[in-house]
Amino acid sequence: MSLATITAAIRDIPDFPKPGIVFKDITPLLQDPEMFRETVDLISAPWHDQSIDLIVGIDARGFIFGSVMAYQMGVGFVPVRKQGKLPWSSFKAEYDLEYGTGTVEMHIDAVAAGQRVLIVDDLLATGGTARAAIELVEQAGGEVVGVQAVIELAFLNPRQKLSDQLVRSLIVVS
Ligand code: AMP
Repeated sequence: MSLATITAAIRDIPDFPKPGIVFKDITPLLQDPEMFRETVDLISAPWHDQSIDLIVGIDARGFIFGSVMAYQMGVGFVPVRKQGKLPWSSFKAEYDLEYGTGTVEMHIDAVAAGQRVLIVDDLLATGGTARAAIELVEQAGGEVVGVQAVIELAFLNPRQKLSDQLVRSLIVVS
């Protein structure tokens, strides 16, 4: 399956959730079993030989891709969640979104010191959420090996906030 086919399956929803935002809807991609599998294979392939210990997936669509990658790669999965959702003591980091601001959290015992962590989300816009996830892993003493997304909105320059990291995205929207 070509990258063009996967790209074509991502649906643009103008003015969601706010006027001026074009929301990239990945649900048609997930509905197609071959496309979902191919997308996960493509985004996990570059990391198989990187001695990853854990995948940290970002709430909420990062859970979909990150948990399947963790299963496939034989590593653990850690959720980074929006504020107030986690039941245990948590580290906190603030972030700016393309459409708002907020706080993300991760359990204080989710990542052990020295563990090699890959951060996964569906989409990089400003890069603020991924930056906050990196801060959470670093608060726990983990080592961030890189950031993997399915879609990168390059016109919002997320790599500026992530310039110290190895960032990979499957589909770059310029
Ligand atoms: P940012 O922190 O600006 O990089 O925003 C990335 C986060 O917000 C990811 O968790 C995305 O799922 C979500 N997001 C931001 N902009 C969009 C968009 N245009 N379409 C879909 N999801 C988005």
